[in-house]
Amino acid sequence: MTTPDAPALPLRPELADEVPYGAPQLDVPVRLNVNENPYPPSDEVVATVAERVAQAAHTLNRYPDRDFADLRADLADYLAVESGVRLDPTQVWAANGSNEIMLHLLQAFGGPGRTAVSFAPTYSMYPEYARDTHTRWVTGRRAEDFTIDPDAAVALIEAEQPSVVLLASPNNPTGTALDPGTIEAVLDAATRVPAVVVVDEAYAEFRREGTPSALALLDRYPHLAVTRTMSKAFAAAGLRLGYLAASSALVDALRVVRLPYHLSAVTQAAARAALEHRESLLAQVADLRAGRDELVAWLRQQHVGGRPLQVAESDANFVLFGVLDDRHAVWQGLLDRGVLIRETGPDGWLRVSVGTPGETQAFKDALTAVIGEKE
Ligand code: PMP
Repeated sequence: MTTPDAPALPLRPELADEVPYGAPQLDVPVRLNVNENPYPPSDEVVATVAERVAQAAHTLNRYPDRDFADLRADLADYLAVESGVRLDPTQVWAANGSNEIMLHLLQAFGGPGRTAVSFAPTYSMYPEYARDTHTRWVTGRRAEDFTIDPDAAVALIEAEQPSVVLLASPNNPTGTALDPGTIEAVLDAATRVPAVVVVDEAYAEFRREGTPSALALLDRYPHLAVTRTMSKAFAAAGLRLGYLAASSALVDALRVVRLPYHLSAVTQAAARAALEHRESLLAQVADLRAGRDELVAWLRQQHVGGRPLQVAESDANFVLFGVLDDRHAVWQGLLDRGVLIRETGPDGWLRVSVGTPGETQAFKDALTAVIGEKE
């Protein structure tokens, strides 16, 4: 018996050659490829999360609080402590990772006939949110040092008339934090369009002394949205909890496009338990920042092919370095030695996350060996 040919699937033509997003998830001893916090939660944190999730389990026959009022209040309290900006819980929104927050933003403010603008190299998921919401995607270039030239940014916004501008600060994969003056120039240009300006602060807690958060601009710019996540500094990537701070009017627009009950009762309970233990979960941030600065300094002393490595300034928990004639060979050489980093960013550059001191040492040893082979 012959089976009839399966009918062709009516896939959207622009998805035909697309592959699912994601770095390889390989089981190797040293994983420094997705900017996770290398320190697992303490037993105390695990116990509170387990207790709160057990309490939530008693109510699993019911849908969760659709507007997650308690979690929003807890997130507003955290932001007040972290950056000195006091927000009303109605100015806070949350979703399953800041990835989903970005999707909500593009669903509400992008769409067919609309444009989103960003500045490359930047986070490689942005074009995917644009694709999935049928939003036209336009990128300007970052400068040689990966900052954004405010005049060029304003000119691009005036020329393209976007409804959304995405600025990552600190940026992924470069680690670059934006100057507040640049963010304000973009916000002023966006007021005239008008466009929503999203400052993606996924790595904000790692910023260096003196680098302000864009949260401080919220009271002056109702079209500003600052996104954050518990995936990085908070050491809770597995939780899938991203959030946003903005005007209540902007948050209300996101409430229209979200799926009903998008944050499960289990997620809400676990996130609130984690926030209760913020001091313990954030305890390693200072060490990670110091490890990052030390890694930048060490990389700057390394030479490849007789030239010193170039290393981007970083306000994040990762470092971008180059320029390598064959970055794939270096990436593979590191992997062969049990160290997984990320092949991303401009040609010839690689990105490494800051791990524990032992993991960072393993990376340094492996890189020294790989570069030595190439000399
Ligand atoms: N923004 C940036 C700049 C990121 O690097 C990441 C994660 N790599 C995210 C957002 C998404 O993080 P999450 O969905 O885990 O909150």
